[in-house]
Amino acid sequence: MDIEQFRKAGYAAIDAICDYYQTLSERPVKAQVQPGYLLDKLPKEAPAKGEPFNQIAAAFQNDVLPGITHWQSPQFFAYFPANSTFEGMIADLYAASVSNPGFNWICSPACTELEQVVVDWVAKMLGLAPSFWTSSGVGGGVIMGSASEAALTAAMAARERALRRIAGIEHAAENGDIQVPEEIRRKNGQKLVIYGSTQTHSLGSKAAIMLGLPFRAIPVSAEDSYSLRGDAVKQAIDADVAAGLVPFLVIATVGTTSSGAVDRIAEIGEVLKAYPTVFLHVDAAWAGVAYALPQYREMLRLTELNEYVDSFCTNLHKWGLTTFDCTLLYVRDRRDLTQTFDVTPAFLRSKEADAGAVIDYRNWQIALGRRFRSLKIWFVLRSFGVEGFQQHLERGISQCTLLADIVGRSKNFEIVTKPSLALLVFRLSPSSRADLTGDILDVLNQRLHDRLNARYDVFLTQTVLHSVERNIFCIRFAMGGVHTTFDDVQATWSIVEAEGEEVLKRWDGDRLIE
Ligand SMILES: *Cc1c(COP(=O)(O)O)cnc(C)c1O
Repeated sequence: MDIEQFRKAGYAAIDAICDYYQTLSERPVKAQVQPGYLLDKLPKEAPAKGEPFNQIAAAFQNDVLPGITHWQSPQFFAYFPANSTFEGMIADLYAASVSNPGFNWICSPACTELEQVVVDWVAKMLGLAPSFWTSSGVGGGVIMGSASEAALTAAMAARERALRRIAGIEHAAENGDIQVPEEIRRKNGQKLVIYGSTQTHSLGSKAAIMLGLPFRAIPVSAEDSYSLRGDAVKQAIDADVAAGLVPFLVIATVGTTSSGAVDRIAEIGEVLKAYPTVFLHVDAAWAGVAYALPQYREMLRLTELNEYVDSFCTNLHKWGLTTFDCTLLYVRDRRDLTQTFDVTPAFLRSKEADAGAVIDYRNWQIALGRRFRSLKIWFVLRSFGVEGFQQHLERGISQCTLLADIVGRSKNFEIVTKPSLALLVFRLSPSSRADLTGDILDVLNQRLHDRLNARYDVFLTQTVLHSVERNIFCIRFAMGGVHTTFDDVQATWSIVEAEGEEVLKRWDGDRLIE
């Protein structure tokens, strides 16, 4: 493809994308294909000779799009939203045009410096304490691909910090040249333990698997709205310490995946004061962007976050208008990252970095190379403004409030946990049917979810809320789509209601009939 062909194909691609968005609300939200549909359709080997680009572009429409579930559909309410915006898409196009691995400042100074600017814009928009700002020179933010990557990064930093603290050498050297003595690593490295709750996202267990260490899922209770409490953390840590183990990381969550629960950060932070080897990471992958709304900061425990937490993560690529992928990891002390990840062979040295004048983000992360993601944050925040960003969040929350009102008044459904921002967790539970008890309700709700799942025009996610009281099967309704209106919410809700009626009709007092 030459420049003129690119010009033509590029314009055509933008036209096709516009057509897609114009018809998005008419398309069933879920892909209507069977497993293997594309595997069967496409050739088993790459073509020997190049093909005309218009055929390739047509194959995207004909072969690929049918197998796409429309996360940008206004009627997508599964998992959490993965907002894409035109601003984000255009930024990704420009980023691709100057494609480079940006690992050092010298690779492309603009990539590093724009990242420094926008992570601070976001930090200030969210109300993070100045110690998390990159301009503080102490802490700072870095853009990554996912919250799981951020959690693993934090876990690795936490492990090194714990070992350095045991060795009594924390932050002794200026620039990352601190080595944990082999003796200390051998003695303690395999005794380290990570903590979270039963509601912690799988990223906690995954980080533990990758480090070859155990993850303790501490139980929570429905009475505490599924949030992790300080005394439960203390109990778990004390038991491990008594057994000769070394606690080194607690992952607290602000806005759990199942129900949007917010862990008690201050309680946990107070407990951790007695355990200096423990690092506190907050996973706010979904809910963290809502700190942009001052009226929700208290509910989301921002003051506690600012006081107690070592690192904090949120995804702009969920509810934050920034096309996938775009995760932010903030640390209060950047040396926790640089003293873990700074491995500098001669060919990566530069006089700017040696002089300490610039940031080399490769020392803040696992990989060397990195995408130019700051551009999409910049485009999005400049185009929407902080106020536009806030209005987008408020729209999702107000849709959730309106839906909660409808569900709360319905005869067949109940709200299981207090609505969290734009997430509503509900289940079938007819107020007039005292005969339908816990286990039966789980069966009925499972069937309701199966029936919804068999349709292509709705997409909602099931969850099981685990607690010390009992496990409850429920269904999640996650709002916050860029193009979603309350009419879209209502249209999906009326399908849920109708399917709920069908399920109840099929309960014969003993079992579900077909
Ligand atoms: C979505 C989500 C994750 C996973 O995020 P990735 O970026 O896909 O790794 C983790 N934790 C919470 C609370 C989430 O909502």
